[in-house]
Amino acid sequence: MSYNINSKGYYGEFGGAYIPEMLYPNVEELRQNYLNIMSDSAFQEEFQQLLKDYVGRPSPLYFAKRLSKAYNTKIYLKREDLNHTGAHKINNTIGQILMAKRLGKTRIIAETGAGQHGVATATVCALMGITCVVYMGEIDIKRQAPNVARMKMLGAKVVPATSGSKTLKDATNEAIRDWINNPVDTHYIIGSVVGPHPYPDMVARFQSVISEEIKQQLMTHENTPTPDYVIACVGGGSNAAGAYYHFLEDPSVKLIAAEAAGHGINSGKSAATSTLGREGIIHGSKTLLMQTKDGQITEPYSISAGLDYPGIGPMHAHLFHSGRAEFIAVTDDEAMKSGLELCQLEGIIPAIESSHALAVFNKKHFKPNDIVVLCLSGRGDKDLDNYISYFNV
Ligand SMILES: *Cc1c(COP(=O)(O)O)cnc(C)c1O
Repeated sequence: MSYNINSKGYYGEFGGAYIPEMLYPNVEELRQNYLNIMSDSAFQEEFQQLLKDYVGRPSPLYFAKRLSKAYNTKIYLKREDLNHTGAHKINNTIGQILMAKRLGKTRIIAETGAGQHGVATATVCALMGITCVVYMGEIDIKRQAPNVARMKMLGAKVVPATSGSKTLKDATNEAIRDWINNPVDTHYIIGSVVGPHPYPDMVARFQSVISEEIKQQLMTHENTPTPDYVIACVGGGSNAAGAYYHFLEDPSVKLIAAEAAGHGINSGKSAATSTLGREGIIHGSKTLLMQTKDGQITEPYSISAGLDYPGIGPMHAHLFHSGRAEFIAVTDDEAMKSGLELCQLEGIIPAIESSHALAVFNKKHFKPNDIVVLCLSGRGDKDLDNYISYFNV
């Protein structure tokens, strides 16, 4: 079985491009060009240069000695938290802004929930001097004031989505409407391995630098390019896709995905899509999503804004369905406890998203000689208020 995308844009039975006819020219233009552009050597040179000098790559692969001791196994942290803007998202937005330039686009749109992808997009638009419009739910604009301020400082226009629940899915609808109305000059930067083909594959390729580096760095540390396990949190699934990418077809590398179970899988306040989701269509792709009996998307919940998403990317739906990856649900409480533990054992304050991945060490047993790589997707600065009110510190 292949775990990569096929020529029709599917991972197993998931993926594809389920889009309104009016969006077809935009998506088709991208589909026809993305692989050629990405394989062009001048494109790769510019991409790699920016990853190095602007993002600060390669991000270290850090052997976490005290954490390893606590769980009696060998734990390496892939330090995406040390990237410019504090997470892995910048790898993808750098790639897509270069893609947009090659396609002759002069205007960028994006949607954002918590504001992290909006900030990563506004950052690369400032870098390139390109107009940036970010759609954001009216409620999210109120909840995420610091990120709204960041986007504005970076020169982006933040447009409130005032329909529906006034959150991420409504912002997505507004962005799609904008793209339909501006098909010639505008590129839509999607922030995870979601959306119609070719987005999931394109974003996975841009993020695959994570596993490419892991292989080289493990060679130095352990004299082998392959770990026994790779652990990552999954919201839409882009940091996980990047951390898994070069190991997908090697069954000796076991893949673990941490999902947000909120207050508990069956509490009604959760974002554990693999357990709760059924097949359906969200943001233009066929995947697993949380929905009511009559197919309306359910409002997700997680303490972590980046995992608060009702679907997962089609690659992950396939990894779940085929059993290639093991999905582990982690509650708010379990994640917060593990986040604090990393602070105190290693002096690293993780993003709450990444804390979900860390909680896997309390849910699964690893052997002393296992090499376990965990993708530390982001830093916790953005989450300080949340940590403070949770722990009453
Ligand atoms: C956005 C975000 C995530 C979730 O997004 P994926 O596409 O699932 O990787 C995870 N961690 C951090 C730090 C984020 O900002």
